[in-house]
Amino acid sequence: MRQHPIENLYAALRAAFPADLDATAIETADSAQPQYYTWRDLERGSAMLANLLGSLDLPAASRVAVHTDKSVEALMLYLAVLRSGHVYLPLNNAYQASEVAYFIGNAEPAVVVCASRNFGWISQLAFQAGTAHVYTLNDDRTGTLLDRAACQSDQQQPVPRGADDLAAILYTSGTTGRSKGAMLTHGNLLSNARVLKEHWAWQANDVLIHALPIFHVHGLFVASHGALLNGSRMIWFNRFDPAAVVERLTEATVFMGVPTLYVRLLAEPGLTRETCSPMRLFISGSAPLLLETFKAWQTRTDHTILERYGMSETTMLTSNPYQPESARRGGTVGFALPGVGLRVHDSKGRPLPAGEIGSIEVKGPNVFKGYWKMPEKTADEFTTDLWFRTGDVGRIDRDGYLTIVGRSKDLIITGGYNVYPAEIEGYVNEMPGVAESAVVGVPHPDFGEAVVAVVVRRPGVALDADGIVAQLKRQIANFKVPKRVFVCDELPRNAMGKVQKAVLREQHRSLFEA
Ligand code: AMP
Repeated sequence: MRQHPIENLYAALRAAFPADLDATAIETADSAQPQYYTWRDLERGSAMLANLLGSLDLPAASRVAVHTDKSVEALMLYLAVLRSGHVYLPLNNAYQASEVAYFIGNAEPAVVVCASRNFGWISQLAFQAGTAHVYTLNDDRTGTLLDRAACQSDQQQPVPRGADDLAAILYTSGTTGRSKGAMLTHGNLLSNARVLKEHWAWQANDVLIHALPIFHVHGLFVASHGALLNGSRMIWFNRFDPAAVVERLTEATVFMGVPTLYVRLLAEPGLTRETCSPMRLFISGSAPLLLETFKAWQTRTDHTILERYGMSETTMLTSNPYQPESARRGGTVGFALPGVGLRVHDSKGRPLPAGEIGSIEVKGPNVFKGYWKMPEKTADEFTTDLWFRTGDVGRIDRDGYLTIVGRSKDLIITGGYNVYPAEIEGYVNEMPGVAESAVVGVPHPDFGEAVVAVVVRRPGVALDADGIVAQLKRQIANFKVPKRVFVCDELPRNAMGKVQKAVLREQHRSLFEA
């Protein structure tokens, strides 16, 4: 692979800004009045925020934890953290106190930024954990972060960074105790962004509809880096609104979504061949795209969705071909991206022939540095010859296409968000009257999978399913709360005494059938 000079990721993105810095870089699509941000605004705004961080005299590579609503200013904050040589730590803004307390305790951020409405509880958690600086940032351009940055200079020289220096930490889930912070370097992110720019053939006139959250690898890295590294304009949605997105398709060329977004768009009568005709590329990832959705999209729009596969620890790994469009195969995630090593091994670490199912392992400049403060866990996830075990199970067919058939770790992906059953079971098992529980994912037409809990009551106790749901809603992010709870007297187990989750999944598989 071609070697690129080592540099700060922001500097590399900045070098791709168009010559006309007064052209629009981002246009907001869901504010009362559209806001237009020029490339100069991104450069100056992120410089001011970087100078604010610089004025705090933080040690190099301090973590900046961000639990805010999506906004262009939040994107500028990300760029500012890169510029200042610190480490960006985005948090899903649905996370609640017990979850945020874990992340702050684990990552020990020097700075925490949150929405004003959450300042009370988040600042309390942060100050208790020793964080010195807590700012607020709202999606209407208000908050103490912007107030404090307003008096800073709008010139800033990005701090030199090596390819191996940390740029971001992405927590792989919201579990208390088990969640792992994937450490991504400037080199990881830049190499992947460059590969995707070429592979998806970003064009000079591209316009991206950005409708994904920016606390996750998909919206923050794949989508934002894609547009920035190509100097392309973004039509920016702070919240996904299918009807409004359909209205803007005629002005755009690239859209990226999780499968749930495609299902919602298909429910819009306005989605037609005509509205999609200027579009060049629809990309899906983060969860399996049902073949049904892939085909429905083709019939309705005349476009073939390009499905790709990646994860927080590695950013993007595989992609269906860009050209010819007819080579994009539904139900598969395509081929390894240039520079990415991909193999499928059996449980004894032996390579499997084409078509056989096994563990997916990967290697490449995009593969993360390890889990934050978990050297043993990191070592466990790499093979002796240093390939990363993705935890996904799949097969590579004779033509080289990878198909993902499942996840070895029972992860549930609902609406593009990851839910680890063990975490939800932990909360349920602590409730009075509960003997044990099992949480599984079952097919759901809208979310891909829905979380379902089966709860065993203690003898002689009456348990209320709605009460369990109500209590969980107070404890954890909404997307993790089971859509249905069943109370029963025992769980199915195998001869070894292990709970048979496959049996539960089967029992409940048609629960949400349309
Ligand atoms: P995350 O770290 O949140 O991005 O989640 C990564 C996991 O999402 C992967 O390990 C896969 O299990 C799953 N995933 C991502 N993209 C796809 C895809 N296109 N098809 C199936 N699963 C996917």
